[in-house]
Amino acid sequence: MIFDLHSHTTFSDGSLTPDELILRAIDQGVGTLAVTDHDTIDAYREPPETYNKIRLVAGIELSTHWQSSGIHVLGLNICLDNGAMDAAAKSQSAARFERAQRIGENLKKKGIDDAFAGAQALSKGTYIGRPHFARHLVNIGKVTSMNAAFRKYMGDGKAGDVRQHWASLPRVIEWIREANGIAVLAHPLKYKLTRTKLKRMLDDFIDAGGQGIEVVSGQQLPHQTRDMAQLCVQKNLLASCGSDFHGPGKPWAELGVFPALPNQVTPVWDRF
Ligand code: AMP
Ligand code: MN
Ligand code: MN
Ligand code: MN
Repeated sequence: MIFDLHSHTTFSDGSLTPDELILRAIDQGVGTLAVTDHDTIDAYREPPETYNKIRLVAGIELSTHWQSSGIHVLGLNICLDNGAMDAAAKSQSAARFERAQRIGENLKKKGIDDAFAGAQALSKGTYIGRPHFARHLVNIGKVTSMNAAFRKYMGDGKAGDVRQHWASLPRVIEWIREANGIAVLAHPLKYKLTRTKLKRMLDDFIDAGGQGIEVVSGQQLPHQTRDMAQLCVQKNLLASCGSDFHGPGKPWAELGVFPALPNQVTPVWDRF
């Protein structure tokens, strides 16, 4: 049975609707899927017709920061009905809007006018993020690809990378726990932290009530999986795995396609 506990839909920056995502997951042999859109649970508002065809675990991927790094925390097996996630999504959506205005101002200083309006025109619903700005930069011919847009303007440390609006790490974990969910540190290797810093971050994450770590995030090398499994056991955390699928042809793993969790870890789904 394949558990894929990290994926995105059109309600954030994925390119498939929830129904399309679920059908593709079934095709890929995924038995349990978590839809974890960035800072929103809108994918769950109108249950897709396909919801009864797969085991779904309600989820979200919350944006936060630790020291100067942008960090993502997954809330898995969250309760959608007790109001905690609505409060989280509402707060994060307001943060996204303010942040988008700031990104627009930052890009203006780089000589790009009207980027906020351009990004807003491309965004639907409550999610407005860096991918909309990147797409706009491609559309106006400032760069030739999304990758170049991130490399030059939107990536880590660039003008369009604004982090200070997000709720704190303890706050996002609190929201997840209020929703009876399990807080899991997403893609620990993506933050490019030294091992010392990653361990320090995990200590703060655990102090704040974090319970799990993505030992496997998409395609990764065997030594990375061993390494993250060891860290997971050392810190007494639950282990999760997922593709972080964003859509066909996008630079993330295919649904269900990633290495299995090593035997020594306790899978997060033991607690679902
Ligand atoms: P945000 O949630 O607004 O901070 O935007 C971050 C999102 O940008 C990530 O979740 C990725 O989906 C996307 N992203 C990051 N790097 C790239 C890239 N090089 N090309 C396309 N999308 C990217
Ligand atoms: Mn994304
Ligand atoms: Mn992420
Ligand atoms: Mn993700």
